[in-house]
Amino acid sequence: MARLVMKFGGTSVADIDRIRNVARHVKREVDAGNQVAVVVSAMAGTTNQLVEWTRAASLLHDAREYDTVVAAGEQITSGLLAITLQDIGVNARSWLGWQIPIRTDSAHGVARIADIEGAKLIERMGQGQVAVVAGFQGIAPDNRVSTFGRGGSDTTAVALAAAVGADRCDIYTDVDGVYTTDPRIVANARRMPRIAYEEMLEMASLGAKVLQVRSVEMAMVHGVRTFVRSSFTDPDAPELKNAAEPPGTLICDEDEIVEKQVVTGIAYSKDEAQISLRRVADKPGVAAAVFMPLAEANINVDMIVQNISEDGSLTDLTFTVPIADFDRSQQVLEGAREAVGYQAIQGSTDVAKISVIGIGMRSHAGVAAQAFEALAGRGINIRAITTSEIKISMLIDASYTELAVRTLHSLYGLDRN
Ligand code: ASP
Ligand code: MG
Repeated sequence: MARLVMKFGGTSVADIDRIRNVARHVKREVDAGNQVAVVVSAMAGTTNQLVEWTRAASLLHDAREYDTVVAAGEQITSGLLAITLQDIGVNARSWLGWQIPIRTDSAHGVARIADIEGAKLIERMGQGQVAVVAGFQGIAPDNRVSTFGRGGSDTTAVALAAAVGADRCDIYTDVDGVYTTDPRIVANARRMPRIAYEEMLEMASLGAKVLQVRSVEMAMVHGVRTFVRSSFTDPDAPELKNAAEPPGTLICDEDEIVEKQVVTGIAYSKDEAQISLRRVADKPGVAAAVFMPLAEANINVDMIVQNISEDGSLTDLTFTVPIADFDRSQQVLEGAREAVGYQAIQGSTDVAKISVIGIGMRSHAGVAAQAFEALAGRGINIRAITTSEIKISMLIDASYTELAVRTLHSLYGLDRN
């Protein structure tokens, strides 16, 4: 017997038939003797519709009322799943964020979980009742519903798993795991049986869209073994019953990974824009004069490249910002022009960030050099580079994205043979 949290995303609960299918996945685990809590997203498309309505009502709306509206999608699916479970003879009850409660901070619309009381759920689960929890929502200190930012049900699931001491958090989605890169770009990308928390955090932060970044952080901090798997398989398929490791990807501690590779995955993102400040004075305080106003405007700067000037007078400063903040960043920098003392701003939204990720880089030399050489061989120019101990990111022209991803994927031997 195990205690499990099972999470189902929007495409997995897109209509009543899909919800019935989810109920059968849940029943399988209950019949196997497990204690189960389920977390559901809203039906695919619902949250987009709700967000649109709040915008149509008023572009400058109250964030508390935004939360009242967008939290509704998960309320619907939690009730519907409880009904379909009861319908097939499984004891089940729905739970909204405030009923558990899942307490958050006061940042309506992008709230962070502060604390989850697991006791009541554990008691019900112990009595054999499945807890069907509405994802993406909690209760803020003002006693009002709060939501976690798009994709937040993943975070509900992992946080709940930590709070009830679950043996595993299963994230059921429309793909059957985490791949070495986007299979839409590289047809022979491989599903990874296991990936370390740190690597998954980089993959998610750098563009892989399987899991909300915050949920991976949470899994890493609390050591929640998180298993990404498909809800589109037959719930009663023999290979899912009592299988030690059914098809999927386990996100776990690196000690649990036997076959270690130097590079585990290639991620890409077209969500960033490049900004270059030309002929900036090369003196103390310049970087602060550039980045403080951006930080104050809540703009998240990612890659930063600065040259050392030849004669100690003028240099260039290049960095990236989210594409959505591109115009605003330029306005902020125009405002800081006097204080910084640069001569020109140049920018481009036509860029992509390609990242090579792997824990093995910590102990292997030459991984970056190989990437640079391979991209050069394809005539791809690198505009900027940043690294951490387990990743290398390169900014290139967006039109080369697919070519760069394919080149690097085969360079590090990730292609399925
Ligand atoms: N329904 C919310 C969204 O679409 C939360 C989630 O699906 O994880 O962002
Ligand atoms: Mg999702």
